[in-house]
Amino acid sequence: MTLVPDVASPVAGWRVWTVADRGRGPELVSPVRPMSWIHREPATATCLEGCAACPSVECRCGLYATAGLAPLVLACRRGAAVLGCTALWGRVVEHTDGWRGEHGYPLVLFVMSGLLLDPVSRIRSTRRVTSAVRHGLPSGHDHVTGPETLARELARLYAVPAHPAPGLAADRLRGWARSGGQAADAVRSEAADGLAGRRLGDPAAHARLARRAQELVDAA
Ligand SMILES: [Zn+2]
Repeated sequence: MTLVPDVASPVAGWRVWTVADRGRGPELVSPVRPMSWIHREPATATCLEGCAACPSVECRCGLYATAGLAPLVLACRRGAAVLGCTALWGRVVEHTDGWRGEHGYPLVLFVMSGLLLDPVSRIRSTRRVTSAVRHGLPSGHDHVTGPETLARELARLYAVPAHPAPGLAADRLRGWARSGGQAADAVRSEAADGLAGRRLGDPAAHARLARRAQELVDAA
């Protein structure tokens, strides 16, 4: 594990989110600790253990992202609605299979389901979402919209590409994690290249990332 202070180039990694509408339209929410990723603002990690500089090497705090898909299979089985690549920057702690970062913002999103959490249900909702996914029914105040509608809204609100990808699910991710997941690797590598060269604002780099993302959706 290595601390890379104030990385010159942000890193790009995979992660998942749940989605809740807290009155500002659908928002990405970290699934473990229910922190909103506010539209058009960098998400910033804080530490419940009180680390002054977050993330710290000794702690588990920070915004998480992974190099491959295998660590995300369980979160997807528990009903995370959105898979995506995020940029991480600021203080970044590097692990063997991913990173913990100080700041983050999504780069490209894949909307697996249109499941929106009750905004006040917070962590206890994990069990309810699992049940909702298993039985195909929302429970409590969880709310289901179409993945297409949710993708359109997220793309508009975060100003990043968002693809409906109902074919992506835990089993598919597990298969890709085993087989190498070439389509997924191509997406992350395109996102990382765009960040390293600070080219994602460039329409050509954006088009390349969108093409790789579409290939991943088609492969699902
Ligand atoms: Zn900490």
